[in-house]
Amino acid sequence: MQTISDLGDLRGKRVLVRSDLNVPLDGTTISDDGRIRASLPTLERLAAAGARVLVTAHLGRPKGTPDPAYSLKPVAQRLGELWGQPVLFAGDTTGDEAHHVAAALQDGQIAVLENVRFNPGETSKDDAERGAFADELAALADVFVSDGFGVVHRKQASVYDVATRLPAAVGGLVQAEVEVLKRLTESPERPYVVVLGGSKVSDKLGVIDNLLEKADTLLIGGGMVFTFLAAQGHGVGSSLLESDQIDVAREYIERAAARGVDLVLPSDVVVAPEFSADAPATTVPADAIPDDQMGLDIGPDASQVFAQHVRDARTVFWNGPMGVFEFAAFAGGTRAVAEALTQTDGLSVVGGGDSAAAVRQLGFADDAFGHISTGGGASLEYLEGKTLPGLAILEEKTS
Ligand code: ADP
Ligand code: MG
Repeated sequence: MQTISDLGDLRGKRVLVRSDLNVPLDGTTISDDGRIRASLPTLERLAAAGARVLVTAHLGRPKGTPDPAYSLKPVAQRLGELWGQPVLFAGDTTGDEAHHVAAALQDGQIAVLENVRFNPGETSKDDAERGAFADELAALADVFVSDGFGVVHRKQASVYDVATRLPAAVGGLVQAEVEVLKRLTESPERPYVVVLGGSKVSDKLGVIDNLLEKADTLLIGGGMVFTFLAAQGHGVGSSLLESDQIDVAREYIERAAARGVDLVLPSDVVVAPEFSADAPATTVPADAIPDDQMGLDIGPDASQVFAQHVRDARTVFWNGPMGVFEFAAFAGGTRAVAEALTQTDGLSVVGGGDSAAAVRQLGFADDAFGHISTGGGASLEYLEGKTLPGLAILEEKTS
């Protein structure tokens, strides 16, 4: 894959950058600017090289038509504050305003184009419609830089099609993400421990499937644990349970045993009579969950065991909270695993939107981990062994 250094002298060139600026908004207030901060280094680098930088990105899920609730204007404003220089903004993506801004840009300036998903061509399943919109995007610039890791698994105009129409390279953020994911898939240092949690088994089937071939130890917590406990024949009370996945869970348990992968389920569970922040919490053995209780976290014994596995690992990948960390009484397992990740000497990687939010909410610093992925869906698909269209197209171009 070409990188920015392969693009040659960028002074005076108009560079279209696909970034991931999809931040959570409270009205027009940005509640977490992590993705803007993560996008800044590539934009700054291009500007410093004298490029005229045009940023294209999406925000939320507008319905292919302009909707002020999803405007990127506050994001452009915040980007300017973080950069310390004014950032221009175009009120459309490829229309008159975008062309006007593109023409007015000086060397070393940055402009943000309005939400790319205000245009139906962006996410269209019809190749011709998407292609026509990609033509409009390409007409704004001389080269393309793909730096939105959170969207590289999408076959969309500003991610995939535009890369076929301009000289193209990956940006620093995508490059860094891919390097880490390669270390997890190609030759991980052992022991390689994978911690999986979150709400549903069905969301994570592909990853479990693929990682069963690669990891030494698989620690399972979160809501998905109860489907595994049910597969072992235990009652799970009113815990989250996916009855239609019990057979799959049983097959994974058998496959792990056959392959010599240590698949570890929690020995104890924190339960409560209902899903609420102030429900009375008690700890019970995982094979003795009362009928009228639901499991909302892994227990203290399990937390210790999981943490020890993580600390002893040379490579750890963690996706999915161990419990309902949003409620303090059920955050213990997630905190224990997060803390252990900060203590391991090996490579520690956190993937998944809620997992990343959990470590920040629990007060851990980003740099205490080896890597926190900015793209939950994209990193999971990569680990599933799927082809990510936004990366594949850039690989094709240089091969
Ligand atoms: P990620 O975004 O990191 O991939 P998921 O979206 O799969 O993670 O899951 C996150 C959610 O799982 C959290 O909101 C958390 O409250 C929930 N969760 C974790 N454990 C349980 C549980 N035992 N019961 C219900 N929900 C749970
Ligand atoms: Mg999630």
